Amino acid sequence: MLYDYAAQVKQRHVGNKVYYRGLIEYSNRCVKNCFYCGVRRDNKNVDRYTLEDSEVIAAARLAHKKQFGSLVLQSGERCDNYFVEKVAFLLREIKKETGGEMHVTLSMGEQSRETYDLWRESGAHRYLLRIEASNRKLYKKLHPYDDLHSFDKRIEALELLRDTGYQAGTGVMIGLPFQSLEDLANDLLFINKADVDMVGMGPYIEHEATPLFRYKDQLLPEEKRFELSMKMVALLRILMPDINIAATTAMQTLHPRGREFALKIGANVIMPNLTPLKYREGYLLYENKPNIHEETDVSLENLQHSIEQAGCVLALGEWGDSKRFRERG
Ligand code: SAM
Ligand code: SF4
Repeated sequence: MLYDYAAQVKQRHVGNKVYYRGLIEYSNRCVKNCFYCGVRRDNKNVDRYTLEDSEVIAAARLAHKKQFGSLVLQSGERCDNYFVEKVAFLLREIKKETGGEMHVTLSMGEQSRETYDLWRESGAHRYLLRIEASNRKLYKKLHPYDDLHSFDKRIEALELLRDTGYQAGTGVMIGLPFQSLEDLANDLLFINKADVDMVGMGPYIEHEATPLFRYKDQLLPEEKRFELSMKMVALLRILMPDINIAATTAMQTLHPRGREFALKIGANVIMPNLTPLKYREGYLLYENKPNIHEETDVSLENLQHSIEQAGCVLALGEWGDSKRFRERG
């Protein structure tokens, strides 16, 4: 069986450790208008926010206190100077506050080489930029047809991340309208060829206030989208045995034990949400996002339980670089 084999491959290559990446949803302001995303620029029903510096630092301190080795700063895409400098400042502050012990992953979209360099020099180690869909034609159906949403630029940005020395990650959405099984198979081959160190992929979940919502009747039922996502995780673990693979929040949205199952059959990273509760309603990328009212301590207790149920061990105080990255030399 696929799942049993993937679980064996995982055990053999990366063992049963699970690494935490504390997720800070830094800002929902975005210049882009992706057809699938609830915080797209044209959704006027979203209260826009950006965390205060002190809130970011408090979240970083909490992560440090709880012995997380790593943080993810994620936000809508912005390339203006103010934003670029602010992120650089926050990276330096996080480094200072945690005595350089905290690894930081950024997930802030497509940026210039200068920006990637600046953020890298300021303390960012990893960068997550999903290709979303590796089929160019499908990508075009998911985005406005303009320079800001160009497939070629997305590919270039991924290459730039490698060039500028980041541990790079990518990923796709699974169960999108117009997406075929062949597309998903090709997504796996794309990810393998991109030779990334980490992958975050998960089911597409519709959001009423987005253009893609009108195709909701064409979507696979939720349980099928979940099953497809698990198959993708298992196949990716077999294809790339030594990378980090995240059990994503969207998996949990479609199945209460989704992340647990993903850990059993291939994933080894979980991103507990550290965003202050008052902002979480503002970061609804899709409907029914879980844990938006749950205090961090409660979430962490539940997570720890899930990890143990999956037969895994939480690795605290470790950066958790992927085996592939460590062996690149
Ligand atoms: N703005 C950055 C970017 O797009 O790369 C980072 C933040 S963005 C919210 C992070 C990820 O959310 C995207 O890469 C996309 O795959 C995912 N996402 C957005 N809308 C989604 C939806 N409706 N269902 C599932 N995932 C979604
Ligand atoms: Fe902005 Fe990212 Fe959402 Fe696209 S997916 S609209 S870039 S936050």
